[in-house]
Amino acid sequence: MDFELDEHIQAVRDTATRFAQREILPRVEDDERNHRFQRDLLDKMGQLGFFGCPIPEEYGGSGMGFLAHAVVTEEISKVSGSLRAAFNMQTMGTAREIYQYGNEQQKKLHIQRLVTCEILGCIGITEPDAGSDVGAIRTRAIRDGDGYILNGAKTWITYAQVADLGIIYAYTDPTVRYKGLSAFIVDLNTSGISTVPTADKLGWRACPTGEIVLEDVRVSVENLLGEEGRGFAYCMGSLDNTRLTAAAGAVGVSQALVDESIRYAREREQFRKPIGEFQMIQEEIARMVVETDAARLLTYRCAAQKDAGGIHNTLETSMAKYYSCEVASRVADSALRILGAYGYSSEYPVERLFRDAKLYQILEGSANIHKIIISNDALGYRKANR
Ligand SMILES: Cc1cc2nc3c(=O)[nH]c(=O)nc-3n(C[C@H](O)[C@H](O)[C@H](O)COP(=O)(O)OP(=O)(O)OC[C@H]3O[C@@H](n4cnc5c(N)ncnc54)[C@H](O)[C@@H]3O)c2cc1C
Repeated sequence: MDFELDEHIQAVRDTATRFAQREILPRVEDDERNHRFQRDLLDKMGQLGFFGCPIPEEYGGSGMGFLAHAVVTEEISKVSGSLRAAFNMQTMGTAREIYQYGNEQQKKLHIQRLVTCEILGCIGITEPDAGSDVGAIRTRAIRDGDGYILNGAKTWITYAQVADLGIIYAYTDPTVRYKGLSAFIVDLNTSGISTVPTADKLGWRACPTGEIVLEDVRVSVENLLGEEGRGFAYCMGSLDNTRLTAAAGAVGVSQALVDESIRYAREREQFRKPIGEFQMIQEEIARMVVETDAARLLTYRCAAQKDAGGIHNTLETSMAKYYSCEVASRVADSALRILGAYGYSSEYPVERLFRDAKLYQILEGSANIHKIIISNDALGYRKANR
């Protein structure tokens, strides 16, 4: 077992670190405060190949793999949660899903344009009555000649208002429940589609989120991803990838909170010594450092397994996602304790990082959903890796 990143991954990580420090950091606070979508930064990230790691070269990616994807995601997430979202919108939930389940024409048409950010993507699963329970989706796709008519409403969709293309999940046959769900690659400029921004969010304010309303939207059979009735399987397969990205994002924000806390604990003096010399602060920092590194190891294991291929590592993906996202919240809480009043103030980045960290408990399967997957596997009720 080799715990060192190879030289290619180290090189792409260094490029991502430099980009985050030089291009994102100087403006992140202002962009977040003003809810400014950073399209120009996405374009640059696309040009640098950040979104193409788990995509083969023949479709415009670098073929560097899942571990490289996780490492780059982590570096960007240290500085911006909003830009971290793009690693699922441009890669895992769209380009990679089309790569895994689409036909050749769909791959040639969409993947390269997504990973270079020529077009922006989004993922349309969640609905007002379908959050954790994906099977409760109500959006319908009714066959009509050589196409389908889509009706329904998606909510909490990242990039809803700015995306060009969405992977939209809809029932082609609701009578057979999960076996009647299908996935469509939908051009969001199609007639009958409208979007509404969601209410203001706690964090990720530079990342637009909205509702997508579909009213008699006509799409061609060519927009069907893979086979009719396989949408639930594709959705779960894709979540296995988007959850890795979420885990890597959580590791990134945790590391940023650790770094800020250490910097502050060394500088801030109370009772005539740096607070870092108090054992209770040291205990807090030790736990933050160890838990962040443990989360990273689970995340890298998950990515390395995907690179090795051959197994569906839903269990290890859930473990990485669950643990990393819980750690992000715990580390954020500790950071706020260490910084005291300054942690509560927008003068220091901890306040923003704290808000970014909380989202990881909700996205890509809440903590409870992952505990269900992990415990059912452990108890032998339902094996996760099938
Ligand atoms: C900023 C943001 C961006 C998002 N982007 C997207 C996107 O791009 N595309 C998309 O499709 N969705 C997106 N979502 C939606 C996200 O995937 C959902 O919020 C998530 O699936 C959880 O659903 P919910 O919020 O409706 O919570 P619910 O499913 O209503 O859950 C509420 C609570 O009940 C618990 N719970 C639910 N079921 C069980 C159970 N069986 N056992 C125990 N506890 C349970 C949950 O753990 C949670 O604590 C986004 C959400 C946010 C906040």
